[in-house]
Amino acid sequence: MAYKINTNCVQAGYTPGNGEARVLPIYQSTTFKYESSEQMGRLFDLSESGYFYTRLQNPTNDAVAAKICALEGGAAAMLTSSGQAATFFSLFTILGAGDHIVASSAIYGGSFNLIAVTMKRMGIDATFVHPDITEEELAATFKPNTKAVFAETLANPALIVLDIEKFSRQAHAHGVPLIIDNTFPTPINCNPFKFGADIVIHSTTKYMDGHATAVGGCIVDSGNFDWLAHADKYPGLCTPDDSYHGVTYAKDFGKGGYITKATAQLMRDLGSIQSPQNAFLLNLGLETLHLRVKRHCENAQAVAEYLEASDKVTWVNYPGLESNKYHALAEKYLPNGSSGVISFGVKGRRAAATKFMDSLKLGAIVTHVADARTCLLHPASTTHRQMTDEQLVEAGVLPDLIRLSVGIEDVSDIIADLEQALAKM
Ligand SMILES: *Cc1c(COP(=O)(O)O)cnc(C)c1O
Repeated sequence: MAYKINTNCVQAGYTPGNGEARVLPIYQSTTFKYESSEQMGRLFDLSESGYFYTRLQNPTNDAVAAKICALEGGAAAMLTSSGQAATFFSLFTILGAGDHIVASSAIYGGSFNLIAVTMKRMGIDATFVHPDITEEELAATFKPNTKAVFAETLANPALIVLDIEKFSRQAHAHGVPLIIDNTFPTPINCNPFKFGADIVIHSTTKYMDGHATAVGGCIVDSGNFDWLAHADKYPGLCTPDDSYHGVTYAKDFGKGGYITKATAQLMRDLGSIQSPQNAFLLNLGLETLHLRVKRHCENAQAVAEYLEASDKVTWVNYPGLESNKYHALAEKYLPNGSSGVISFGVKGRRAAATKFMDSLKLGAIVTHVADARTCLLHPASTTHRQMTDEQLVEAGVLPDLIRLSVGIEDVSDIIADLEQALAKM
């Protein structure tokens, strides 16, 4: 029986048998025991499924991956040690030296560096495009060696809403998959597969964990992209893998081929496994994801409206505001809300923003977003402090920009804290 997403948050992925632990156990074991070498051999051949070494698969991790897979409506999923590892694995499973990616320029800074600097050193080129690019201009960025398109549903930190259908149409017109980072909306607010995305990744470190306890990532494959129809582009999936007993992932594993290759090859070789302990914590977070995300969004909407009405605030960026440039796209792709993250500017630029930050009592100054506790960051006085005002503007980080991650506390307390800090500027 298929359940609704709220039920899947609580129960999907783990169904105990009679007399077994009600709560998903932590399989804190690197290895698994077998009666015969022959059976272990079949596991190595991937002709039989089972556990043998936690770097490749672990029952706790698999249950949590299965839950996220159900939330996204995917065919197969895997956990990774971090969101960064998920992004890298999602791309490198189908790319190699000499290949090219089309990527949105409005993505998380770490993803941008990974693609623009580190993957470049591996011989993989990228063309970055603004999410608002016209469909014609987007079409013109594809090359014969383009193998994937990568973008974020709701960009961190720019809060730009992606027209997912525009990107999926062009990806598919050029015979490549669309990979979407769905970290900020979570599956509660958006299922990118419904709009044509093929693969979704998450930094589970953010709302999914939701309590700022465990760094982690996840990759979910919709199973919809037909690799074999583009076998010339994806030989790694469509021809036998000599490093893995001659299996042909897309043929032998069908809709599970992509995730099987990412596990059997990349996890084997790069070892970016999520610890079962962290997967357990992630699962606890997921059990309340539907409740928390709703509350984050309700609180953020009220806070954004308060800030927009304040004469101490010069601008507010939140897709839920009718005045927002991306409001129409948000209504289409994020009808239940975008996220708890807002950015805004205060009157008086850098000095006033610093005073405001130092006056906060409830909101904490941290370099993190998307957990239960309200937190704020003023990049100009912290992460970007070495830059002049002119350099900041050039980098797209305004001197007065404050990033606010609205928590799930009582919203009147959050607003009262902002109000008293704004009054001190
Ligand atoms: C944080 C973040 C990442 C990176 O995830 P880590 O878990 O920190 O490695 C990737 N994408 C987005 C949108 C993020 O917010």
